[in-house]
Amino acid sequence: MTLWRPRLRTVRARLLLAAIAVEAVMLTLLVSNSLRLLQDSLGAQAETHAAQIAPVFNAALVAPLAQSDYATVQAILDESRAVEGIEYLAVLDRKGKLVAISGWPRAKALPAVDPRFSLDQKERIPRYDVARPIQLSGQPLGTLRFGLDLSHIITARHQLVTQGVAIALGEILLSAGLLALLGYWLTRHLTALTRASEAVARGNYTPDPVIEGNDDVGHLGAAFNAMSRAVGERVGELVATRDELMTLAYTLEQEHARLAALFSAMDFGVLFLNPAERAIYVNPGFRQLWNLLDDFDIQGREVAHLLALSESPPMDPEQVARTLREHDRHAEFQRADGRVISAHSYPVVMSDGQAIGRLWTFVDVTLSRLNAQEMLAAKEAAEAAGAAKASFLATMSHEIRTPMNGIIGMTQLALDTDLDAEQREYLTWVHTSAESLLGILNDILDFSKIDAGRLDLEQVPFNLHEMVQQTVGLFTAQAGGGGIGLKLNLDAGLPRLLVGDPIRLRQILTNLLSNALKFTHQGTISVRVAPVVNAAKVPGRLDLQFSVADTGVGIAADKLEMIFSPFSQADSSITRRFGGTGLGLAIAQRLVAMMDGRLWVESTPGQGSLFQFTVALRQAEKPAGTAQPAAIAEPGAGAHVLVAEDTPVNQRLAQTLLNKRGYRVSLANDGVEALAMCQAEAFDLVLMDMQMPNMDGLEATEKIRAWEQESGHRRVPIVAMTANVRDEDRLRCLASGMDDFIGKPFRADDLIAMVARHIL
Ligand code: ADP
Repeated sequence: MTLWRPRLRTVRARLLLAAIAVEAVMLTLLVSNSLRLLQDSLGAQAETHAAQIAPVFNAALVAPLAQSDYATVQAILDESRAVEGIEYLAVLDRKGKLVAISGWPRAKALPAVDPRFSLDQKERIPRYDVARPIQLSGQPLGTLRFGLDLSHIITARHQLVTQGVAIALGEILLSAGLLALLGYWLTRHLTALTRASEAVARGNYTPDPVIEGNDDVGHLGAAFNAMSRAVGERVGELVATRDELMTLAYTLEQEHARLAALFSAMDFGVLFLNPAERAIYVNPGFRQLWNLLDDFDIQGREVAHLLALSESPPMDPEQVARTLREHDRHAEFQRADGRVISAHSYPVVMSDGQAIGRLWTFVDVTLSRLNAQEMLAAKEAAEAAGAAKASFLATMSHEIRTPMNGIIGMTQLALDTDLDAEQREYLTWVHTSAESLLGILNDILDFSKIDAGRLDLEQVPFNLHEMVQQTVGLFTAQAGGGGIGLKLNLDAGLPRLLVGDPIRLRQILTNLLSNALKFTHQGTISVRVAPVVNAAKVPGRLDLQFSVADTGVGIAADKLEMIFSPFSQADSSITRRFGGTGLGLAIAQRLVAMMDGRLWVESTPGQGSLFQFTVALRQAEKPAGTAQPAAIAEPGAGAHVLVAEDTPVNQRLAQTLLNKRGYRVSLANDGVEALAMCQAEAFDLVLMDMQMPNMDGLEATEKIRAWEQESGHRRVPIVAMTANVRDEDRLRCLASGMDDFIGKPFRADDLIAMVARHIL
C-alpha cells in the first residue's frame, strides 16, 4: 500500500503548510467552541422563554377552563399564537381530552413532549415540545401543550458557522500570503544559491554572482561568490593545464609516430638501452640485421646477449661483451655468413644533462667495404693506365720527333741549295706537311697533358708588347700573300713587363690567328689587346682581354658551342680543305681557364667571327730593361761546338746548320764519347741529346760537371737538344747540370739563336 505523500520540496511550502494546519485546527476549535456557547445560551433562553410562558397561560386559562368555557380557551389560544416563537398551542382537560388547539391540525396527534431541551429537527423544523399543568390553587385543571420554534437558534448557529469559516479562511489566506512573502524573502537567496550551485554542477564554473548583502544571508551569498570565483579560476587553470597537456601529448604522439616511421624505414639497426644497459627498443632493421624474429622479446636483455643469440650456433656472449667493451663505443662484427656489421654507440642525454640510456646503431658495411676495395683497385688500375698512357705518349712523342727533326731540318737544308723550280715546289710541300704534322703532334701532346693535369704554367717575366708583336708578325707574310689586312691594336695603358707564361699565351694567340687566317678569304683580321674594363681590383693582378676579329666565313650559331670540344669542327668540308685536328680551340680554352680567364666567340656566318679571351697575369715588380733579348748571333767565328747525338740524320743536320754559320763542330755518338771528348778538349758549347745508347745525356752531363769540379776546368755550357719535350724532361735536364733546352724538332733559326746565346 502506498501512501500519498505531498511532495513538499521547499522549506517555504512546508512552513506554509504547517502554519495553515495550525491555523485550521485553532480556528476550528474556536468556531466549534463558539457554536457550543451560542447553542447553550440560546437553549437556556428558549427554556426560560418556555418557563415564562407557562404561568402567563396558566393565569389566563384557569378561569375559562374551570368553567369549561372551551370557546374562550380556544380564543385565548388563537390569540396567543401570534406571540413570536410559538409554533402551536393546545389545552387538554383533566382527563387529557383536547379542548382547544391552535397552530396544529386537530386531527393530528400532538407531538411527544421533549423530556429536555434539544435542537432536534421535527417536521423539518427545530422545535421544543413542552407540556405544563394548568393549576388552580394546586388543583390540576388540565394540561397546556405548546411547541417553541427554535429556527432562530439554527439560523444564528448557521450564521456563526458561516462567518467563522469565512473569517478563518480569510485569516488563513492572509497569514499564508504573509508567510509566503516571508518565505520568499527568506528563500530567494537560497534559490539563487541553489541555481548557481546547479549551474556549477552542470559545468558552468562561472555562474552569475548571487546577491550579496550585510545580513547573514548576504554573507552566505558573498561567501558563495568568492567560492565560485575561486572554483572558476581553479577550473580555468586546470582546463588550461589539461589543454596544454593534451597538446603536449599530441605533439609527443606525432613525434613518436615520426620517429617510429623513421626507425622502421631505416635499413640500419637501432637499439636503445635503459640506464641499466638493458634493451628497451629495437627497430625492424635491427631484427633483420641480427636475424631476430618479429615476436622475439628483446625487453630487458643485454646487448651482448642479443647479438650473441643471433648467430647460429650462438656466439659466446662473454666474447661479444668483450668486443663491445674493448672498442668502447665502436665495434665491428664479422658474421658467419660473411657480412660485416659496424656498430656505434652514443649516450642518450636529456637537455638537463641527465643520461637516460644509450643508443647503438648497426650498419651492414659489407657492400661498402667491397666497393671501397673495388674502387681502390680501380683507382690503382686507372693510375697505372694513366702512367702507361703518359709514358706511351712520351715515348711516341720522342720517337716521332726524332725523325721529324731530320725531315724538317734536312728539307730546310735542301731548300737552301740550288734547286730547279719543280724540286723546290715538292720540297716546299714536304716542309709544309712536316710542319703541320709537327703542329698536330704538339696539339695532341698538349691536349693529353692538360687533360691529365700534367701541364704546368710558367711564371716568368716577359715583354707583352714584344710577345704580341712577334706573334702577329709571324702571320704578316701569310696574310699579305692572301691579300688580307692584319691590324694590331695594343692599348696605350698596357704595361710592358708582365709575369706569366708567354709561350702558352703565344700559343693561344697563334691558334686564334691561324684559324682566322684559315677561314678568311678577304678583308681584315684585327688583333686587339687591352686591360679588362671592369675587372675586380686585386693588388698585383692584371686582367687582359685579347680579341681576334676576322671577316671570314663565320660560324653557324648551332656550332658555336661545339667548336670548343676536342676533335670537333664546324664544317668538315672546310677542314678537308684547310686541315686541322679540331684540338686548337679545346687546348686554347683549357689554357685560358688555367690562366683564370675565359674564351668565347661571337660570329655571323658570311660576315666574320670575333674570338675573345681574358687572362689574369701578374704585374712585374721590377721595370723591364735588365733582361736583354738575345741578339741574333754573329756568325760563329770559329767557336767549337760538340754535338752529342746518336741519330746520324740529326748529327748531320746540326753539323750542317752550325757549319753554315761558321761554327766548328765535333760529333759524339753517345754519352761516353761526349764525356771523353770534353775531358780531352775545351768546347765552347755542348749540344747534348738526352736519349743515347751506352750513356744518356743526363748521366754524361752529370759526369762532365763532376769532372769540371774536380779538375777545376772551365764550366762548358751544355744545351739539351732532345725530342723529350715534356716539362719534367726539361727540369731533369736542368737538374743534371745543363744550362738550357731546345726541343726537337727545332727550326734552324731557333737552334742558331740558342747556340749564340750561350757562346756569347
Ligand atoms: P682546327 O684545328 O680544326 O682549326 P680548332 O679547335 O682550332 O681546330 O677549331 C675548330 C673549328 O672551329 C674549326 O674547324 C672551324 O670549323 C671553327 N673555327 C675556328 N676558328 C674559326 C674562325 N675564325 N672562323 C670560322 N670558323 C672557325
